[in-house]
Amino acid sequence: MNKIKFNRFHGGVSHCLTMSYDDGPKEDARLLDIFNTNGIKGTFHLNSGNIFSRYPEDKLADVYAGHEISCHMASHPFPVDLPDMANLLEIQEDRRILERAAGYVVRGMSYPFGNYSAHVIGLLRTAGIEYSRTTRATNNWNLPEDFMEWHPTCHHNGGIVEKFADFITEDRWGRPKLFYVWGHSFEFPRDDNWGMMEEFCKLAGGRDDIWYATNIEIVDYVNAQKALRFSADCDKVYNPTCTDVWFTVNGETVCCGAGKSLIL
Ligand SMILES: [Zn+2]
Repeated sequence: MNKIKFNRFHGGVSHCLTMSYDDGPKEDARLLDIFNTNGIKGTFHLNSGNIFSRYPEDKLADVYAGHEISCHMASHPFPVDLPDMANLLEIQEDRRILERAAGYVVRGMSYPFGNYSAHVIGLLRTAGIEYSRTTRATNNWNLPEDFMEWHPTCHHNGGIVEKFADFITEDRWGRPKLFYVWGHSFEFPRDDNWGMMEEFCKLAGGRDDIWYATNIEIVDYVNAQKALRFSADCDKVYNPTCTDVWFTVNGETVCCGAGKSLIL
């Protein structure tokens, strides 16, 4: 029987890097420039209640073009301190306003202050949110068990330049590796470490063995992988989704295209 393993990302690579930045400060412009120079992709979690004081509504899509605009709740509250209706309004308002400016459906979030509960997660799911990032560092390369409790690898001050060498070289028994970095771009001038981020992006960017993805692209890819239908013998597969999916069969990388069936 074939040995199937979900250990490949988009393009058939086994490494994925994603960046996740909160609050939409004016320093995002410089961070975006560094990402764009090095071919790195990020997700930007914005508060609709204040973002247009820094970026005009009709320019927001251009500022964040090529990256993902995502929610961070309208007024940056502590969600666990709010009544249900207030949380629903915070998220619905954030989606509605950000979607109008972004021009696409906004389905992701990060928790303001990293604050959440199982009950808050239930409300967010009802409001159509498909993932939300916490602020708890795992210091590992694992994909999350539940995208609504997506713990990042580490904050950008968690030694990302040093960690990158491990990310690339550590064998990890052939398992897939996700490097998930989070932070706020206003921290770089405060901590005087723009140079560290430039060094990291130069080191980590532009490689053909890493998939550079936004948060929602990873969610969509993993969901498509889970949606693959295998025969009982694992010798046939059907991909009912609109996303190409890669995996290994007896150690060989295989791509099952969107909507396609394959004999393995
Ligand atoms: Zn925040």
